[in-house]
Amino acid sequence: MKAIVKYKKGDGFVELGEVTRPVIDSEEVLIEVKAAGICGTDIHILHDEFKYFPPVIMGHEFSGEIVEVGEKVKEWKVGERVVAEPHTGACRVCRLCRTGNHQICSKKRPIGSGQDGAFAKFIKVPSWLLHRIPEEVSFEEAALTEPTAICVHCILEKTGIETGDFVVILGPGPIGLLAAQVVKNAGTSYVLITGTSKDINPRLKIAGELGVDYILNVDKEDPISKVRELTNGEGADVVVEASGSPSAINQAFQMVRRGGRISALGMTKEEKVEIPWNMGIMKGIQITLPFSSGYTSWEKALHLIASKKTNVNSLITHCFPLGDWSKAFSLVTKGQAIKALLIP
Ligand SMILES: [Zn+2]
Ligand SMILES: [Zn+2]
Repeated sequence: MKAIVKYKKGDGFVELGEVTRPVIDSEEVLIEVKAAGICGTDIHILHDEFKYFPPVIMGHEFSGEIVEVGEKVKEWKVGERVVAEPHTGACRVCRLCRTGNHQICSKKRPIGSGQDGAFAKFIKVPSWLLHRIPEEVSFEEAALTEPTAICVHCILEKTGIETGDFVVILGPGPIGLLAAQVVKNAGTSYVLITGTSKDINPRLKIAGELGVDYILNVDKEDPISKVRELTNGEGADVVVEASGSPSAINQAFQMVRRGGRISALGMTKEEKVEIPWNMGIMKGIQITLPFSSGYTSWEKALHLIASKKTNVNSLITHCFPLGDWSKAFSLVTKGQAIKALLIP
């Protein structure tokens, strides 16, 4: 079968190649991939900025249909429409796995970087990581379950949103636009999203269509004074950092109110980022750095998508066959695509 493979370490080294179809073990299922989203992480892997184990088929945000089940798999059948958490390799016996935190298990080798992923016709996944796609959700929409689950896990389950919170989202990429919808549904009063001049079309435009209350171009306006002005000088209750930019990370400390919360979603390209540590302590800020997602956030994400409370369709700006991966990656890199899907 054809697959997009990162075949060795370094910047680049990605190719559409011919690989053998995966062979499942007794606890796995084989899935025919119907749609797979390109994530910022895939761009980081392309440029050697994220941990991966080559040669590896890329892609971890996907949906598909089960075409084969291992002999010990009793709860899933051929023909079922599924999505899968990417936490392959998690040991299931350590303290973290046993307390429902398998996403941070040290043994984890996630699909798309640690083991073969979804930019291919077929993928194999252990059955314990599967979730059923509700009938009303299309394969294309379901491919956005993973980034939606990340927002649910980080913002709702770890940071927490209170009714009436004023929330700032830094960065209008797919995660920022999903985060905006997730917090709107959680009872926030106002949501403000920031971007730069290059984000005006399509990202900030879509933010407006999705009902985000304030859209701010940081190249034109100072976000810190704007947030103070909108919050009677207090600052935001919650700042969701979804850009990974060191300057935005610093802005988060400035614009959050005393006793407020920062929810960290954006991975940065830098090895280290300088932050105003003392200011954080003096303001009594709560910072959460909750990596990835888990079982409950996936079920909640599927509910949000099925009930249309999170509109993922408006974020799918492009669909390409696998052969056009390079064009798709470049649109995502330039921010011209919000979510680009590959349809194997
Ligand atoms: Zn992702
Ligand atoms: Zn473990």
